[in-house]
Formats: sequence, structure tokens, C-alpha cells
Amino acid sequence: MAVTVFFSPRFAEHTTPPGHPERPERTNAMESVANRWRMKGGDVREPRRATREELARVHTGDYLDLIESVRGRPSQLDPDTYTSPESVEIAELAAGAAIEAARLARAGTPAFAFVRPPGHHAEADRAMGFCLFNNIAVAAADLLASGTSKAAIVDIDVHHGNGTQWTFYGEPRVLFISSHQFPFYPGTGAAGETGSGEGRGFTINIPLAAGAGDDEYDAAYRDIVQPALQTFAPEVLLISAGFDTWIHDPLAGMRVTAAGFARIFGRLRAAAEATCGSRVMLVTEGGYDLEGLEAGLTAGLDAFSTL
Ligand code: ZN
Repeated sequence: MAVTVFFSPRFAEHTTPPGHPERPERTNAMESVANRWRMKGGDVREPRRATREELARVHTGDYLDLIESVRGRPSQLDPDTYTSPESVEIAELAAGAAIEAARLARAGTPAFAFVRPPGHHAEADRAMGFCLFNNIAVAAADLLASGTSKAAIVDIDVHHGNGTQWTFYGEPRVLFISSHQFPFYPGTGAAGETGSGEGRGFTINIPLAAGAGDDEYDAAYRDIVQPALQTFAPEVLLISAGFDTWIHDPLAGMRVTAAGFARIFGRLRAAAEATCGSRVMLVTEGGYDLEGLEAGLTAGLDAFSTL
């Protein structure tokens, strides 16, 4: 089954100040990969906007009101997170793409949402780290709301997915696994953070020292991620697909190559084959070198297209 891509050129309308790494040009890399996919006969769909009800499964009413108050105007929401006049609508489109990708995945077609802004740092009540809405958390919450009993989220971005972790920290129906450079932004993600209450044991953090490359990542995915997924046996696998582990990424200090992306996705694909089959979705997170972003998107499409 080929992967269905969700993408809109409108993702370029969310603009950030000059020199900001999460820049509109990232959309060009996504569009190049989407166009190549279409030329190969792949299915590329326009997403829809998430509704307030869908966003409210993860975000507080006060936070959604705050975001509503900056609709149509530029603002700064945290030291790194800015909006332009179109940003709220575009962020709703990003969350909607993640929801639709997850629904399609649950129905048996793997799907990859190419979006910006990213989502995994956004918490229930605050924007953070370039993220307005937590796209993957909103998608997972949508699955739970419509009857999915177990979903796994694997976050391969170089940064810890703090927003996703806290959303499901006490939730045993969601296994959250993050591999990330540590210590590093945003500061969370120590190995001892494993969940709380009924959710204890359903958060797995894999902190990695700066400089880790293809072999270190492959070992972590082979020795920790793959077995954990096989034990948990999710109905749907959701992947926070950040590509800032890339060897030339300007923000981080890892050394993953295109071959390394393929190996990570190969491990995740093997886990999917053993548990949930083609019920896999991916949504983009970071990745600030355009060549690395294209390499990562391509590796993701290739890995899951033959499931
Ligand atoms: Zn990142």
C-alpha cells in the first residue's frame, strides 16, 4: 500500500522573522517531495483545518482563546514562537492534516502529513519552540475519542517531545517513546521520566549524547524502540518525524545521514509489520537544513510504501 501524503502549499503562509530556522522555505522542500510523489502516481491530498473541538482534546480553553486573539495579526507567543496574520489558520490546517492522516492510517492506508508549523513542543496551555498546536497529540486524541484502544507515538526529532509527553503522561492507552539529544532544548526527556499514575511505564525516553550518528540511532531503535512497540502492540503507530538529527542541521549536534533515516524507519517498519501492519502515520516536526528535510521525507515515504 502506497503512503498517502497530506500537504498544502499554504503552509508557506505561516511566516517567521528573518533568520528564523522554522522558515517558509521549508515548505518548498515538502512541496518538491510531494510533487515527485504525485509524478510517481502517489496520492497527495489537501488537508482541512482542525476544529476547536478537536484541538480542545489536547489544549485548554484559555489557550485556544489566547490563540484566537492573535488570529489575523503578528504576535510573539514565546521567545522562539511567532505568528504572522495567517498563522492560526495555517496551524489549524497542520493539525487537521495530522488528524486526517491518523484516520486514514487507522483505516489501513499509511499516511504522511507534511506540515508546518511543527507541534511536539506545544503543551496544553502554551505555545513553545516554534509550535502552536500539538499536531500529533491532537491526532492521537482523535483516535482515542473514536475508539482506538492503544496508540503508540514515536518521536524521532532531535529535540524531546515535551508537549506530547505531558499530554499523555498519565494515559496508559498511549505509549510515548522519544529519542533525542540530551541535555538539550527543551530540557526534559531524562530516562527517569516514565509516566505517572496509570500511565507509569508508558513513557520511554532515550536521551542520547551529542554526536550520535547512524549506528547509535540504529542500536537504540533495535534494542529499545522495536521491542517496546512489539510488547505494547499498538493498533496504530504515529511518528513525530523530525529530521533535525541530520548531520548538517544548523540547530543540533547529531550526525544522522540519509542512510541513517532509512535505518530508523526500517526498524519502525519492522515493528509495524509485527504489530499494526499498515496502520502507520507520520507527521513532520523539525528539520532545518532543507537537504536533510528532503532526505528524511523521502526516506519515510520509501520505508512505509510497501507495508
Ligand atoms: Zn526538533
